[in-house]
Amino acid sequence: MAQDLRGFLDLIKRRKPEDFVIVSREVDPAFEITAIVAKLEREAKRRPVLVFENVKGSRFPVLTNLHASRARLASAMSSGPQEMLATYLRAMDKPIPPKVVATGPVKDVVLTGDRINLYDLPQIVHHEGDGGPYITAAISFAKDPTRELWNCAYNRLMIQGRDRTSIHLTVGKHLWEFHRLAEARGQSLPVAFAIGVHPVIALGALAIGSIDEDERGIMGGLFGEPLELVKCETSDILVPAHAEMVIEGEILPEARVPEGPFGEFTGYSLGERQREVLKVHAITHRAGAYFQDISVAHLDHMLLSTIPMEANLYRAVRAMVPSLKAVRVPAPFTCYVSIEQRVPGQAKNAILSVLGADLYMKRVVVVDQDVDVFDDRQVTWALATRCQPDRDITIITSARGSDLDPSSRGEDGYTAKWGVDATAKPSLAAYTPRHRVPPDVWERIRLEDFGL
Ligand code: MN
Repeated sequence: MAQDLRGFLDLIKRRKPEDFVIVSREVDPAFEITAIVAKLEREAKRRPVLVFENVKGSRFPVLTNLHASRARLASAMSSGPQEMLATYLRAMDKPIPPKVVATGPVKDVVLTGDRINLYDLPQIVHHEGDGGPYITAAISFAKDPTRELWNCAYNRLMIQGRDRTSIHLTVGKHLWEFHRLAEARGQSLPVAFAIGVHPVIALGALAIGSIDEDERGIMGGLFGEPLELVKCETSDILVPAHAEMVIEGEILPEARVPEGPFGEFTGYSLGERQREVLKVHAITHRAGAYFQDISVAHLDHMLLSTIPMEANLYRAVRAMVPSLKAVRVPAPFTCYVSIEQRVPGQAKNAILSVLGADLYMKRVVVVDQDVDVFDDRQVTWALATRCQPDRDITIITSARGSDLDPSSRGEDGYTAKWGVDATAKPSLAAYTPRHRVPPDVWERIRLEDFGL
């Protein structure tokens, strides 16, 4: 399978040409790109991949909205929209280790020393109040400084100089842990960021699992072949050979700079914080590289991130409750679960599984199998009619959650969590029955017989 973004774009152009739109008119990277994506989504109900050829102040075209359709993400995984969860779980279960190749198109242009200038990139400002231009589609590749263990993640980068950005490391997650290990030794952490990749690489980078799981193997599992990697110019970090662009650098020890505010997936613009610093040592890119952008908190961002989240939560709950039916992440920090409860207590076990499997999860609702978790009205109905709050709500105090949750108390990410058991008690079978038209009548009635 073509492992580059361009191969996937060719597929879109062949299969669904209306999903690929080139904008030739000049756009201002400050707010206009996000405004166009959001207006298309909200007013025109369209979600094409967009290429802005003429971006004020930069020679790089901007490609955005790549992940804004479930069907598009499914086709990237060679799957159907209904089978995405199963496809992703297979890749998690059967990862394929990456392989190193001698070189690749990402080395077409190599910029080091004085030729590095992050201000040559599109200076995209997404939302009002953002602290500056951000790179939102950068996928980090890094190695544990103490052992042979690799990690990939999305990390937002705020451009802070010609060769300098700040970086948001999610407190408590894997890259943050790597950096803390390096910092404890007084060392910097070598890292590289791929920008502009096949959606399978994006989906793999967002896998949520143990620090021991290598996201690059999940990418390979989704490709059905090893991910091809090349060595960086200025470190031993390995990066996708077919990326549009790679930024090489190191996260410095004991350095912090003001970062933010930045409008995030939570729907809030969290204020300025002191965050880690990236010193850039090289930029390499393909000839005529696309600079990829993700409009934060819009479909491009939210669809992409929920698929890996739901797969991990499905795996975790199923380990505890084999009769799990479905899992959905409908909103930030929130998970709905439906189960066929065989014995009392399984709903509570499902709550514990979700809260134990994903740092970000804060609110869990568990319903019976007759409730469709993809229909918010049905979940609300179950909450209202099958739940006694004094009996069915579980609260976990003083836990670690997302450092981007504005409701955190005292310290960013220090939070309570809660689960609601909205299953019928003592069991669905023993519960007051739902009303219905008798099945034989339902079957017999044909609307056309009544002139309808
Ligand atoms: Mn990881």
